[in-house]
Amino acid sequence: MAPTTFSRKRTQGIAVLIEVQDLRLHPVDFDVRLGNAELESLPEVTGELRFRGQARLAGEGMILKGHLHGEIAPACARCLTPIPMEVDRDLELLYQPESVLGESAEVEIHAADADVGFFADPGVDVAEVAREQVVLALPMQPLCRPDCRGLCARCGANLNQGPCACPAVADDRWSALKTLRKESR
Ligand SMILES: [Zn+2]
Ligand SMILES: [Zn+2]
Repeated sequence: MAPTTFSRKRTQGIAVLIEVQDLRLHPVDFDVRLGNAELESLPEVTGELRFRGQARLAGEGMILKGHLHGEIAPACARCLTPIPMEVDRDLELLYQPESVLGESAEVEIHAADADVGFFADPGVDVAEVAREQVVLALPMQPLCRPDCRGLCARCGANLNQGPCACPAVADDRWSALKTLRKESR
């Protein structure tokens, strides 16, 4: 998985920037709620997205431990019907400052096989983390049902709702077999 970086500091919308500096004193609680306006880039999210938990110092970086909850509805891979589902997961994520990259090969190797993200100074935007975790939670090939019949390639009708008006296409394999039978008589 590619490392995550937070290079952009949002000035509007909900941004909960947790700075490493603040964590040196004590852990910081966070509770971020993202509504439709903040989630325009994620059409699969149908309801409010909430991420709450606590950030604590971990070396030069931080660990975010919390719970992510939201309603999503990714489109069926075959018929495009939205499939309502819930994201409901406990998360424990390690974030390292970008400055550690390049300094130590060990960190990069460690990052390659673990849930490690990277951030630019001064800290991590928890709203961005929530958004990213939802993307990770989206199934790759969601199906509304295992035997979804998909859409007609000609007229686009949803074939789960019954056959469309398109003329039946002769199956070449069968016609070839019929020809063979005729010849063998
Ligand atoms: Zn479907
Ligand atoms: Zn059709």
